[in-house]
Amino acid sequence: MGDCIFCKIVEGGIPAKTLYEDEHAIVFDDINPQARVHMLVIPKRHVVSLDDTKETDAILLGQLMVVCVKMARKRGIADSGYRVVANTGRGAGQSVFHLHFHVLGGRQFEWPPG
Ligand code: AMP
Repeated sequence: MGDCIFCKIVEGGIPAKTLYEDEHAIVFDDINPQARVHMLVIPKRHVVSLDDTKETDAILLGQLMVVCVKMARKRGIADSGYRVVANTGRGAGQSVFHLHFHVLGGRQFEWPPG
């Protein structure tokens, strides 16, 4: 949609290290990893953020969560623990306004997050 960088990745206009793809979602490595494993799980459809979803998106959101779990297991971070993060809005640190779930693992995490 317009200038959306993640839509361009979905369409193949910008290269990304795609790890998984299905009808609704794609997964690729974050370009600036914050952990040994740092993937982004995104819907192919342009959705701005979690706050741009409605009850009718429940199935899509469930599918994206299932992909997060599948990919965490595939990349070998499920046993040691991993974090799924959706920064929602500028104040929460969102910088790309196409819904994405960060899946991070392979290091120890702190709580609360910064
Ligand atoms: P957020 O700040 O939560 O919106 O996360 C956006 C993420 O997208 C950041 O972790 C960026 O490193 C990542 N990112 C931005 N552009 C690309 C790209 N072309 N390929 C892969 N990851 C990207």
